[in-house]
Amino acid sequence: MTQPEIFARPEMQVALAAVREAALLAAQIQTEMRRDDARLKSDHTPVTVADFAAQAVIAARLAEAFPHDALVAEEGSDMLADPSQAALASRVLAYVRRLRPQATASQVAAWIARGGTVPSHRFWTLDPIDGTKGFLRGGQYAVALALIEAGQVQVGVLGCPALVLAGEPGVLAAAWRGHGAWWTRLAGNAAWQPLRVSSCRQPEEARLLRSFEDTHTDTARLAALQRLLGLRRPPLRMDSQAKYVVLAAGEAELMVRLPPPQQPNYREKLWDQAAGALVLHESGGQVTDARGRPFDFSAGRALTANLGVAASNRLLHDALLTALQQVLA
Ligand code: AMP
Ligand code: MG
Repeated sequence: MTQPEIFARPEMQVALAAVREAALLAAQIQTEMRRDDARLKSDHTPVTVADFAAQAVIAARLAEAFPHDALVAEEGSDMLADPSQAALASRVLAYVRRLRPQATASQVAAWIARGGTVPSHRFWTLDPIDGTKGFLRGGQYAVALALIEAGQVQVGVLGCPALVLAGEPGVLAAAWRGHGAWWTRLAGNAAWQPLRVSSCRQPEEARLLRSFEDTHTDTARLAALQRLLGLRRPPLRMDSQAKYVVLAAGEAELMVRLPPPQQPNYREKLWDQAAGALVLHESGGQVTDARGRPFDFSAGRALTANLGVAASNRLLHDALLTALQQVLA
């Protein structure tokens, strides 16, 4: 397929439209956030009005365009159904109505609840706001949507409102398996540009991306990795799958995620990796888990058969995995 053919495919058109409108809505919500627009979930991670609103509008579009496709998404509707959270639910409804003026509270809950499935042969996976902590802090965040078929990511779309590429913020990135990856401005209708990884072959020149949050990774092992590879520059801290876009655009060469020492059994969630992994793969990069295994997107809502993430511009992947093997030993 040529690039115009890929962008004319219904799955790509729907995914792009959905991510674009949700990412622009999230950016709008961020400028209007009130103190009580964020909550802590039972796993002690934050959720905001923007997470719920973005999941609702994307799930609605997918339900209309592909009613038989399942959705594996981060948020659930239980919190909004709790009578003590009526204020939160009404804030979410007000934002969904900016895009869907006829929406009702029960429709919003039903759209969000569509995301509570487990992997099947063909399904979409969504992180409505990846990097909610970054969203709240004024750092990076991403709206991440991917289509998975037979255990492989076929389509990946990322909307990164705060990411700066070529001097301006607001990036929309998209990939179709076997056919490439491109980016454009989130706002407006600028032309799509191909994404291409860095051609750096010297580990000591390489730039390593890591989570902004210390509690999302293993900082001691990352420091050991940095020494083993002889990286001259300190790692770049950044929230969300925006890191994958930075790698895909050739602005860094390596990215590593390791389970935090206080949670050695933490496993990556499908929606935190699927879209970004395809964007990087189709830009010429390579993504495996920290032991060099391919991701198994059929194991459940988390990548239970994998450990962490190792991503690179491909040229440095062997060196990265060799160093990781020592760091994990
Ligand atoms: P990042 O900004 O790259 O750290 O990735 C953000 C994602 O990390 C969130 O979407 C969460 O799903 C995930 N996350 C949340 N808590 C943890 C944790 N304790 N360890 C690793 N990842 C986490
Ligand atoms: Mg996430």
